[in-house]
Amino acid sequence: MNAHDSEIISGMLTGKGYRISDTLEGADIILFNTCSVRAHAEARVWGKVGELKKIKNEKLKIKIGILGCMAQTYKEKIFERLPHVDLVCGTANIYEIPKLLGSLKTREKVLAVDNNQRDTEKKIDISERENKAKAFVSIMEGCNNYCSYCIVPFARGPEVSRPVSIIIDEIKRLVDDGVKEVMLLGQNVNSYGVEIKNPRLPRQSGGQEKSKIKIGFVKLLEKINKIKGLERIRFMTSHPKDASLELFTAMRDLEKVCEHLHLPVQSGSNRILKLMNRIYTRDDYLRKIDSLRKIVKDCAVTTDIIVGFPSENEKDFNDTVKLMREVGFENAFIFKYSTRKGTKAALLKDDTEDKIKQQRNQILLKLQEDISRKKNEALIGKTLEVLIEDVNKKNKAEFIGHTGQARLVVFEKDDKSLGDIVNIKITSCTGHTLKGEIE
Ligand code: SAH
Ligand code: SF4
Repeated sequence: MNAHDSEIISGMLTGKGYRISDTLEGADIILFNTCSVRAHAEARVWGKVGELKKIKNEKLKIKIGILGCMAQTYKEKIFERLPHVDLVCGTANIYEIPKLLGSLKTREKVLAVDNNQRDTEKKIDISERENKAKAFVSIMEGCNNYCSYCIVPFARGPEVSRPVSIIIDEIKRLVDDGVKEVMLLGQNVNSYGVEIKNPRLPRQSGGQEKSKIKIGFVKLLEKINKIKGLERIRFMTSHPKDASLELFTAMRDLEKVCEHLHLPVQSGSNRILKLMNRIYTRDDYLRKIDSLRKIVKDCAVTTDIIVGFPSENEKDFNDTVKLMREVGFENAFIFKYSTRKGTKAALLKDDTEDKIKQQRNQILLKLQEDISRKKNEALIGKTLEVLIEDVNKKNKAEFIGHTGQARLVVFEKDDKSLGDIVNIKITSCTGHTLKGEIE
């Protein structure tokens, strides 16, 4: 979501004539689009912006902005902590950035952190996307789930869906521009369309009427599946409580929807899941995976896991290890618990020593690497469909791309182009990457 916000911001600015600077020294404006999910991400921003004080002293005209979740969370406190920052712009205000930068010509400091929802009807056109073959498309903003550890509902506000017509038009324009794959983004895509109106728009303008969203996520997928020229549809993130049989059936029946589900489990311990306010048990989760795999043949499943949540003991952790073995995820993102002020979990004692969190993190990373490697090894000799997404930055003679199951594949270039879908025969692998040849 943040990466997509960054491309929206740079797209808006380049559309207005700004240019992206290759170097820090060459820039007149330096913008940080920030994440508040974990303290570590924030610490890096505090540190990096702090370092810019020297540049600002030497080049007074330079403007520095902090955007996104940290801006929303810390608001004017950022100016107190970092007086050389000129602009603080929250998650709901990013479309105003060109205007806000303009007002910096006459004002010393600009703060824009309205609690209103972002304009979900805004037409988004990104003139220069980094990747030509695939694109992010936001289908909803915010989150209503309030998992006890998570800052997102505070930093991004309540859930609001973007209207169907806006999403479809955006994807059509992307396809006209050569895009073959879209990644539909939302904190909880399965509750797309659950709220029926956009509270931002005034009733008298007919806005609420106009913005009614009457369809759910599966219906949205059906509509997107019909878009000519689009080859692949992905989406994230799904919450296990809302991932339904209807969704799995749609994944099976809609030919463009990739056979991959990112389904964060967070923990394998019922006690911890309850404290996390995740509203499912490990058995509920395992049953979902079972149905998914029965319905969608060869579906890849990836997940997010938090280690060291308050009071997590050896038994809880072992329940997570067991669950990982049982499911055999294609990939897992493992995070060390980080207390976020204002969340419910912040009231609990962060009682797992960092050393233990680190150990648990390493154990799960190693376990996942072993599982991924075994799964990858089983693919050697097979032929898989891969979307050519980019030139391999580490070896310019190679292309990189993903299979429908979201496996990364590297292969030697030939006369094919970015955006082509090719058959690749897998010849070797490492833990997370497959190597192959175009057939
Ligand atoms: N809406 C998505 C993603 C939210 S943030 C979802 O529900 O899955 C991405 C991941 O960051 C989460 O899945 C979780 O594993 C992790 N995360 C969120 N808050 C965290 C915290 N306070 N400490 C550590 N990891 C956290
Ligand atoms: Fe955070 Fe939970 Fe919402 Fe995901 S579903 S953004 S983890 S509150």
